[in-house]
Amino acid sequence: MSPADRPGMLLVVSGPSGAGKTSIKNALLERFADAEFSVSATTRTRTAQERDGVDYHFLDRDEFQRRVEAGAFLEHAEYAGNRYGTLRAPVEDALRAGRIMILDVDVQGARQIRAAMPEAFGLFVLPPSDQALADRLRARGRDSESAIVRRLEIARQELAAAREEGLYDAFLVNRDLDDAIEEAVAIVEKARTARA
Ligand code: 5GP
Repeated sequence: MSPADRPGMLLVVSGPSGAGKTSIKNALLERFADAEFSVSATTRTRTAQERDGVDYHFLDRDEFQRRVEAGAFLEHAEYAGNRYGTLRAPVEDALRAGRIMILDVDVQGARQIRAAMPEAFGLFVLPPSDQALADRLRARGRDSESAIVRRLEIARQELAAAREEGLYDAFLVNRDLDDAIEEAVAIVEKARTARA
């Protein structure tokens, strides 16, 4: 079957930053040759480890707003004081070509995607505990203590909303990264087979 003969898959991956989402997403990109990552736009400051156009498109607030008004985003949201948005065109192109498009978005983004594209598959990645998440955020050394406290509070609210609203098809607890990756691969394979 050529790639375009099978339906594309919109894979929405959410979960608090620090839960291991990025590592799991990168492993999925390695395992699935026809998967690609939707590089979001953000007004957040770029960290030393991040590359513009690879991890995010880093935009100032004026440029972000211009793109909102131009209808360039499939969804967009404000998270911990910064704006984030999924660019529409690459997602539509990937799905048309029958590819797996991976979106890393927060719960607000998942809600908007679900409303626009009910066939999207939602995967929520969880840390094993609140304490483990706090430890990971601190070990990462990226955020200030006040930003960490804010992110932890958002994480609690996001999980409650994710569970209550039935926005996700699968919840994955990342106790051990290798196990979580295998589980994520199995979840995606199963979901894809079910819609082929
Ligand atoms: P971070 O600043 O840690 O990279 O991302 C913060 C949060 O924003 C994460 O929960 C991440 O999933 C979410 N996020 C990243 N890109 C997007 C996007 O395009 N749209 C939405 N709604 N959330 C995003």
